[in-house]
Amino acid sequence: MFDLNEVNINLSRRGFISCVVPDAAAALEKSLEIIGRDSVGIGGSLTVKELGLAERLREAGNAVYWHWTDGPLAKNGAAHADIYVCSANALTVGGIPVLTDGSGNRISAMCNGPRRALLIVGKNKIVGDEREALMRIRSAECAGANAKRLGLHTPCADEGVCDDCTSPERICSVTAFFERPSKGLLKTYVVLVDKNLGL
Ligand code: SF4
Repeated sequence: MFDLNEVNINLSRRGFISCVVPDAAAALEKSLEIIGRDSVGIGGSLTVKELGLAERLREAGNAVYWHWTDGPLAKNGAAHADIYVCSANALTVGGIPVLTDGSGNRISAMCNGPRRALLIVGKNKIVGDEREALMRIRSAECAGANAKRLGLHTPCADEGVCDDCTSPERICSVTAFFERPSKGLLKTYVVLVDKNLGL
């Protein structure tokens, strides 16, 4: 079990604007406060879906671009929204968010495009270091479960182990370690949630 306050301090030292909240309801309210009236791009994220963030934003009148609800073309709008929201696949105790994408859309937006970015991260994604982050990301519980959710047949989904596959259905193609927030954005926020969220 990792100390979220320690992770929070380490994120702040690296230049992220971070905080700890107790549960999903508090994470939702904090996210709405950070986003304000801005237009919002959302990456593929079970965490964001579990919070019901897109629904609350649309009710409030924010422009929302999310390919999970609006189709693939929404990725273009998301890449140029005022703020981009997603989760990380892992977050080290030392304060390094780690993201793995199939197409690189989340990583790209976290590096350049929107003016701000917001990561919402449940405590289940905290790991000891970068090596453990990669192990988590390629585990049956993370990549395997995501591939199953998408109906894909990869070794992590079908056999429960990663073999660095050459499958055309491979979901992990691009990985980024954010040792600092990208200089391409004005601000990168991290909301740490003291509950399990997402995969
Ligand atoms: S490389 Fe292939 S087997 Fe390994 S985690 Fe990625 S999709 Fe799964």
